[in-house]
Amino acid sequence: MQSSKRNNPCPVCGRTKDSDCRWDNDVIFCHCGSSFAPPSHLKIGDIIRLDGKDWALVKTNSGHTGLCHVFKPHRHIEKTYTPTPRQKQQGQDREQYLFKESVKAVEEYIKLANAALEVINYEYCNLKQIKESKALINRAFDEGKELREVLVGVRRFNKNIEEFIELFDEKYRPIKYQKKASDEFCWNHLGEIDE
Ligand SMILES: [Zn+2]
Repeated sequence: MQSSKRNNPCPVCGRTKDSDCRWDNDVIFCHCGSSFAPPSHLKIGDIIRLDGKDWALVKTNSGHTGLCHVFKPHRHIEKTYTPTPRQKQQGQDREQYLFKESVKAVEEYIKLANAALEVINYEYCNLKQIKESKALINRAFDEGKELREVLVGVRRFNKNIEEFIELFDEKYRPIKYQKKASDEFCWNHLGEIDE
């Protein structure tokens, strides 16, 4: 531990006349004397910056002289996020809203999927019908992919969505097969059709 002396001033008060201030990398004891003293405005918890490093005043009237300000390196403690009751309420409202909307979306999706799954035998369709049917399957496939991600997100805060995910998957699974089949059919019989 260093002490203040000629050619080695205290980093806080600049004391050089005696060895009343002492310090190392982890603590500074700065003596409150009559000619040299730490800044008088400092209160416990205040931070001072010395040579690019922040130090917090943690104690007064302490140390080897009984009259030292004690400084310790200031650690930036990350504040853990605690929402206010209002934010909490808003969060809950939002979750509730997302849950309801997701349930609605599943119901809508089932209608779309049912329409897309009404199997049209492509062999007997004209090109226009095939295009329409293919567009519907593609839509059900794309929307299903998106909706599933949303549902998985909702599951993180509301497990009740689980049963709707099951309902959803019952429809989404055949849509995936249907899409594959329709792509293959079109590829084999028509080449790629413009959508
Ligand atoms: Zn000092």
